[in-house]
Amino acid sequence: MENTKCDLPITNINLAGKLVARKSLSHQTIVDVNGVKIGGNNLVVIAGPCAVESKEQLLETARYVDKYGGIILRGGAFKPRTSPYSFQGLEEEGLKLLKLAKLETGLPVVTEVMDTRQMDMVCAYSDMLQIGSRNMSNFPLLKEAGKTEKPILLKRGMNATIEEFLMAAEYILSEGNNQVVLCERGIRTFETIYRNTLDLNAVPMLKSLTHLPVIVDPSHGTGHRWMVGHMAKAAIAAGADGLIMEMHYRPEEALCDGNQSLYPEDFHKLMEELRVLAPAVGRGIVHSELVK
Ligand code: PEP
Ligand code: MN
Repeated sequence: MENTKCDLPITNINLAGKLVARKSLSHQTIVDVNGVKIGGNNLVVIAGPCAVESKEQLLETARYVDKYGGIILRGGAFKPRTSPYSFQGLEEEGLKLLKLAKLETGLPVVTEVMDTRQMDMVCAYSDMLQIGSRNMSNFPLLKEAGKTEKPILLKRGMNATIEEFLMAAEYILSEGNNQVVLCERGIRTFETIYRNTLDLNAVPMLKSLTHLPVIVDPSHGTGHRWMVGHMAKAAIAAGADGLIMEMHYRPEEALCDGNQSLYPEDFHKLMEELRVLAPAVGRGIVHSELVK
């Protein structure tokens, strides 16, 4: 890690010979999402709705992402829902809307692929593939993602150890794709007052063990809108390379994860705070002028 003269950490896991392993303090992979570089000195803010719900919802929300300084648009077209009766996503129609939002705003888009059978379709419409928490251990899916040319946003399994998380990334790298961003999104613990327990220990630990960029999702990590800004700032202080956050133009109408979705004005305020915080920890923020 930067900012330290220490050697690479001694832990109970052995990454010798693994592709994910950091070899030196300066060894760092930069993941390029259509010109947006993740893993460098500048922080990357990804934002957007949990799910793509309609043209109006996505375009209105995407405009706010762009206006307030988000640099990649998120939105699920295939949603992994706990209940089969909950909204499952607009599927290809949702992917088409993401493409439209990209055309209008210029923001690259990241969206989840849940199944190997969707891989070609999701690749055709997106700039970055998300592999969600529930699929972190779907090894055939990881291998297929590793065969694509797309950058991958790999979210930590909600019950995965750091070693299991790194080995999931290893599956992708072992197929030839080293464009992988790791995302800490909270783990299951005995505590139920939050949706998950956001494990910010994972940030410095992962940064020291691997050369892959590490970002944090304080939305799923907390489940509470009012906590998102607090944990977003804590994540940056802990050394994260960026954030992925849910934001909705009308959270109370959201079909998925409205309680943890920021209002546009919350997002605006948080971005202003991050612009103050980032330099205090030696970072900048990727701005659209730099990439468009
Ligand atoms: C999401 O990003 O909308 C999502 C489903 O996240 P996770 O896989 O971390 O639960
Ligand atoms: Mn969500």
